[in-house]
Amino acid sequence: MAIRKVVLIQPRRDGRFLGRGLSEPYTLMRLASLVPPEIPVEIWDEDLIELPIRELGPHDLVGISAKTLLIDRAKAIAGRIQQQGATVVIGGTHVTLVPDEIAGWADVIAVGEGYRTWPQIIRDFDRGTLQTRYVDEEWAPLDSGVAVLQDRVLRQVDEHRNYWTPYLEITRGCPRNCTFCTAVRVSGHKMRLRPVAEVVEEIERRRLKRFFLTDDNFGLNFRLFPQYMEELLRALARLDLHGWTCQAEQMVAEYPDLLDLAREAHLDKFFIGFESINPKNRRELGGKGRGEVEQARRVIKTVHAHGIGVVGLFVFGFDSDTLETFDAAYDFIRTSELDGVSATILTPYPGTVQRANLLAAGRILPHTTWELYDTNHVTYRPAQMTVEELTAAYDHLCRRLYHPARIFARGWAAWRRHPVDKLRARFFSSFSTDIGYRREFSHRNRRSSA
Ligand code: SF4
Repeated sequence: MAIRKVVLIQPRRDGRFLGRGLSEPYTLMRLASLVPPEIPVEIWDEDLIELPIRELGPHDLVGISAKTLLIDRAKAIAGRIQQQGATVVIGGTHVTLVPDEIAGWADVIAVGEGYRTWPQIIRDFDRGTLQTRYVDEEWAPLDSGVAVLQDRVLRQVDEHRNYWTPYLEITRGCPRNCTFCTAVRVSGHKMRLRPVAEVVEEIERRRLKRFFLTDDNFGLNFRLFPQYMEELLRALARLDLHGWTCQAEQMVAEYPDLLDLAREAHLDKFFIGFESINPKNRRELGGKGRGEVEQARRVIKTVHAHGIGVVGLFVFGFDSDTLETFDAAYDFIRTSELDGVSATILTPYPGTVQRANLLAAGRILPHTTWELYDTNHVTYRPAQMTVEELTAAYDHLCRRLYHPARIFARGWAAWRRHPVDKLRARFFSSFSTDIGYRREFSHRNRRSSA
């Protein structure tokens, strides 16, 4: 079958905020860049447009990428596309974690990263030899280059006009093994690094001034690859950037020289996975933290002293958590000088150790939709609370954390920490993270009252 065009779809989640999307379809931009230049390719972001599905036909190949909470939406979209006679390929994290669940309704499933298999799928569709399952079993070696973003893709996505924060990836993978995390199965145990020159070229060609790193655990490279980090940060320092943010763990505070370089490289904030301030949860944190309050305070103070902000990421509902854990966490956060806070409920995603244990114990709640797997809903029976108690305690915590007065207080303190010459540029970013998390929490209420 001769191919007419390729369409890549990001299912709806957040809508627009003040006219722009919140989640740039960065992975789809890479996959679109692997489509041969003679084949037309389009990216459809359902947060930005009504999907023009009626214009699709039998010669069109449609890829939909979905994480777990979006897989039901992906299924609904796929059904409408199949009615048009077009072929649907489903990829993304959920397919990678539970491929057999998707095989019943997608025309093709693409398991794994897809950088090798996606070009093969396009070729096979064009020749009429399409298979029903493609498995990309090897982790792409990023040191020999990733799919270069094509200019036609950048023009079409028009990221500066359509999205609040461009995404960028510099490293991928995480050697930790936190029991609740899917990173090991989705991105691999081994940390992979992109060449510094390639990263710089991408930033310059995309004319990025700000970006969020999608890397699973960028900060761990401070320990694993200090020379690479030094080279990278010195290169970023030479660029005219306004600021960028990344995910990290507490041990970044042990590397003062790299913290200084990171500040010179325009790093604005670390999103640090403290995860828990209950030391009894230590076993579940994969060696990256001990759940100790005083250690967390030292980390925040040290990072602040180097001129970098800290957003704290916390998970609630571990087996050792009780109702008192919520009050202790609130007290810690209120007095911690964190610049922003993310509070989530433990979510037993497919493929995690956590889910396997809960399944074995018969504690996973029956569910008819994966939309509840959004980290704002309780999807299992907690050990020391009822489902209702955990839900109510989480609600109460979030209402306190994301009360406008608390957001203002954290944002104001964060803004005042910047040097005078950066105050103007950093005003919006000082408040935007908490506003984003407040919006994320509001998904729960929208669903609960639906
Ligand atoms: S350190 Fe972060 S990315 Fe790595 S396994 Fe733990 S939660 Fe996942």
